[in-house]
Amino acid sequence: MNQDVYVVIEHLQGTVADISYIMLTAARDLAQKTSGQVVGVLLGYNAENLASTLAADSVLYADHAALKEFSADAYQKTVASLIQEKEPRVLLFGNTSIGADVASVLSARLSLPLIGSCVQISDGKLISQICGGKIMAESELAETTTLITIIPGGYKAEEGQSENSPEVISFDAPALDDLRIMLKSYIEPEAGDVDISKEDFLISIGRGIQTEDNIELADELAEMLGGTVCASRPIVDQGWLPTSRMVGKSGQTVKPKLYLALGISGAPEHVEGMAGSEMIVAINMDPNAPIFDIATYGVEFDFFDLIDPLLEQVEEAAEG
Ligand SMILES: Cc1cc2nc3c(=O)[nH]c(=O)nc-3n(C[C@H](O)[C@H](O)[C@H](O)COP(=O)(O)OP(=O)(O)OC[C@H]3O[C@@H](n4cnc5c(N)ncnc54)[C@H](O)[C@@H]3O)c2cc1C
Repeated sequence: MNQDVYVVIEHLQGTVADISYIMLTAARDLAQKTSGQVVGVLLGYNAENLASTLAADSVLYADHAALKEFSADAYQKTVASLIQEKEPRVLLFGNTSIGADVASVLSARLSLPLIGSCVQISDGKLISQICGGKIMAESELAETTTLITIIPGGYKAEEGQSENSPEVISFDAPALDDLRIMLKSYIEPEAGDVDISKEDFLISIGRGIQTEDNIELADELAEMLGGTVCASRPIVDQGWLPTSRMVGKSGQTVKPKLYLALGISGAPEHVEGMAGSEMIVAINMDPNAPIFDIATYGVEFDFFDLIDPLLEQVEEAAEG
C-alpha cells in the first residue's frame, strides 16, 4: 500500500465541480498525516485538459469513450481496478449523488472501510457531520485503503485550484463494454421565475420562518435591499416557494456576493448548494447551529425580534 491520497475528480459537461477542488484542499491536510502525495483521479474522454486547474501533485487520467459522461457502472469498475493496482492509502469522493454512487459500491465490493460526510480533517482525525449536522462523529484512518466522502463547508474550493498544471499520467481503464448504466441524455430543469444561481444577493429562508404568512417579511426585506428570496428544502416541500428557489443538493448551487440565511440550520444538503457564497450572514437562535461554522458573520438572535427594527433601519437609511 502506498501512502498517497487519491481524489476522484467530479466533472460535468466539461466543468470541474467545486467539490473536486474542496476535496483537493482536504487531501492536502490528509497527505500531511500519511506523508503521501495528493493525486487526482480523472476519468473522461478527451478530457485531459480538465487536469490543468487541479492543485494536485499529479493526476492519473483514464481516457475511454465509456467515461465521456458519468456512469456509476463505468466509474466503479475503473476506480476499483485502480485501487487494486495501486493500493492508495486513502480515496476521497464527493458526498454527492456521483460520489456516493461510486464510494458505497466500492466499499461493499472491495470490503473497504468508508467514512461518510467528512467535513474537516483535524490533526489527522476525520470529523463527519451526520444526521443533518446534528451529530459530529470523529474517526481515524483504518490501516487499509480507506474511502471517504467529503461534504463542503470545511474547506475553500479556491485553495484546491492551481495555475501550475500538474503532471498527468495516463492509465488504462478496464474493459467497459458490458455496462448496465449509461447516460442517454441530459434533461435540463425548466427555467423558473428567477435564476437564483445568477443573483448577487440572496435572502434565504428556512424552517425558522415558521409559517407561510411570514414569507412576506422576507419579501419585504428583499424588496428594500434589492435581494432575491430563496429557501431551504422544507420551505419548498411545504409548497411555500417554487422548486426554482430551492438551494442545496436537490436544488440549485448558488454563489452570490451575499447570502443572508434566516432560520436555516446549515444541514450538509443545504450547505452543499451555498458554501461557495462570497459572504454568508446567518441569523439563528441556536448557538450550536452548524450554519455558524461556515458563516462569515453569525447573529445569534430570534429572527422575529430582529426583523422589525431591521426593516425600520433600512427604511430610515433609504429615506435619509
Ligand atoms: C437526499 C436529501 C436531499 C436534500 N436536499 C436538500 C436541499 O437541496 N436543500 C436543503 O435545504 N435541504 C435538503 N435536504 C434536507 C436537509 O437535510 C435539512 O433537513 C434541511 O436543509 C433543513 O432545513 P432548515 O435549515 O430550513 O430547517 P431546520 O433544520 O429545521 O432548521 C431550522 C433552524 O431555524 C432556527 N430557528 C427557528 N426559529 C428561529 C427564529 N425565530 N429565529 C432564528 N432562527 C430560528 C433553528 O434554530 C434551526 O437551526 C435534503 C435531505 C436529504 C436526505
